[in-house]
Amino acid sequence: MTRSQLLQQLAVPQSFDLAVIGGGATGLGVALEASLRGYKVALLESHDFAKGTSSRSTKLVHGGVRYLAQGNISLVREALHERAVLLHDAPHLAQPIPFVMPSYRWWETGFYGIGLKLYDFLAGTKGLGRTEFLSAASVKARMPGLKAQGLLGGVQYWDGQFDDARYAVNLARTATQEGALVVNYCGVTQLLHTEGRVCGLLAQDHESGQSYQVNATCVINATGVWVDHIRQLDAQPNGVKIQPIVAPSQGVHLVVGREFLPGDHALLVPKTADGRVLFAVPWLGKVILGTTDTPRSDMPREPAPFDEEVAFILNESARYLAKAPKRSDVSSVWVGLRPLVKPHHEEGASTKGFSREHTVSVSQSGLVTVTGGKWTTYRAMAHDVLTQCLTSKLLRVRNSSGNPAAAFKGAIRQSSRPVSLTVPQGMHLYGDEQADVAALPGSENWLLPGLSEAMVRFAVRHEFARTVEDVLARRSRALFLDARQSAAAAAQVATVLLSEGCEKPELSEYLNLASKYSLKSMP
Ligand SMILES: Cc1cc2nc3c(=O)[nH]c(=O)nc-3n(C[C@H](O)[C@H](O)[C@H](O)COP(=O)(O)OP(=O)(O)OC[C@H]3O[C@@H](n4cnc5c(N)ncnc54)[C@H](O)[C@@H]3O)c2cc1C
Repeated sequence: MTRSQLLQQLAVPQSFDLAVIGGGATGLGVALEASLRGYKVALLESHDFAKGTSSRSTKLVHGGVRYLAQGNISLVREALHERAVLLHDAPHLAQPIPFVMPSYRWWETGFYGIGLKLYDFLAGTKGLGRTEFLSAASVKARMPGLKAQGLLGGVQYWDGQFDDARYAVNLARTATQEGALVVNYCGVTQLLHTEGRVCGLLAQDHESGQSYQVNATCVINATGVWVDHIRQLDAQPNGVKIQPIVAPSQGVHLVVGREFLPGDHALLVPKTADGRVLFAVPWLGKVILGTTDTPRSDMPREPAPFDEEVAFILNESARYLAKAPKRSDVSSVWVGLRPLVKPHHEEGASTKGFSREHTVSVSQSGLVTVTGGKWTTYRAMAHDVLTQCLTSKLLRVRNSSGNPAAAFKGAIRQSSRPVSLTVPQGMHLYGDEQADVAALPGSENWLLPGLSEAMVRFAVRHEFARTVEDVLARRSRALFLDARQSAAAAAQVATVLLSEGCEKPELSEYLNLASKYSLKSMP
């Protein structure tokens, strides 16, 4: 369906069972799960799908090794189950990856090894590979980029990694296939109430400025760190000032070349000098270094890194990697905001102790708010939201006319073999849709390594892309991998978008954005 067809559908007077606000992992998960159960769903996203936190994760599909250390067994068990589902559903976008935890103190191998054996045990038959105790020589063989000095051994364990933004776009496509009306660039500006109950919303098309009224039995607020804005809209008719429930925490990632971490293994240092976690993860032909956990009270759409966060990641990486990365080696820096759920009494405190679990709440008017959690558990969150809607009698039980075994868009069934997410981006990320991409004009015209003209056309025709940023940041991950290189292709991408009928590709806005993702000045 074209954008104008989507908007025409939105304009038809009708009532939905659910109106979902927010097109990140959480909202898209709810839209898909509800559609699969046969509910009539509309989802409105103010920017592009996954423009918020959902394109800015560490790209891990994981049970959460560090939550194990906190003794949160039920959270880990649930996430390990969901890890298996996510990897199964979209093997073109999510694959297992081995991690090495190096040891520099005599007790570390045993201590972490036993914890990771418990991780294997909790995964049960859904495990991705056995945890192994390693000698110093085996660690070096698996991870030639690691400093050998002081290395005593280590542990290898398995988790998953994925392309978060492409996964989100394909969730949107799969939900559409199941009947949901899913629209990006259509932000919710107002909630509608009747007799004190929320009964719909107003949304505004970013491109035309036109407003749409969406009536729904049940309204779901899945706007990540921005949930409190929507909660305030809900409370406004009564003039009540709401208590915020989210304490955002900023996480920064730096991207460097594969020469800093050759091999196929990711590095996890569970406790750096100041007690933080450090990751170095090969991803799409580069290495992601991160991350930080810095409380931040404002919630910008494009948060910038603090200098001390960049310095922390570079300094800590230099302590473990034989080739120390410098600022000038960083090809992209991106920042995400974690929607951590705040215990009311801890306002202003460090965010490390806040809940990583999700919360679902229902306001007096019936607005359902869901936030927290993590990408890996998006489906479990969706189930909890729908359960809450049913127990609060906001939805009626539906004898599903939906399709519980819907095929995830692009999922590889027969034709191609899944490829590791550590290799550079390319056609393999399209799974079973590779032939569809190849059939479009420009399949041999490469605008960037891993991005052809045909892929841009596919992004517009099938993946809801509207702007240069949608293509270079989230359909391709060029912005996140190498901001300067992506800027060099931006004008060509804009030309293809114009030829596909996208009237405002926002080229200059993209060039401005790319300069913020680069630590070097732009040419
Ligand atoms: C640094 C970092 C690393 C992480 N790493 C991992 C990881 O490796 N693995 C993992 O499982 N999890 C990870 N997470 C957690 C995970 O990324 C988040 O839990 C998840 O992406 C949150 O998704 P969301 O849909 O709730 O929020 P978002 O993705 O932020 O989506 C909310 C959406 O709501 C939209 N919105 C806001 N206001 C409106 C409005 N008025 N109208 C319409 N739409 C609106 C926004 O534009 C946005 O797209 C990480 C998080 C961070 C910050």
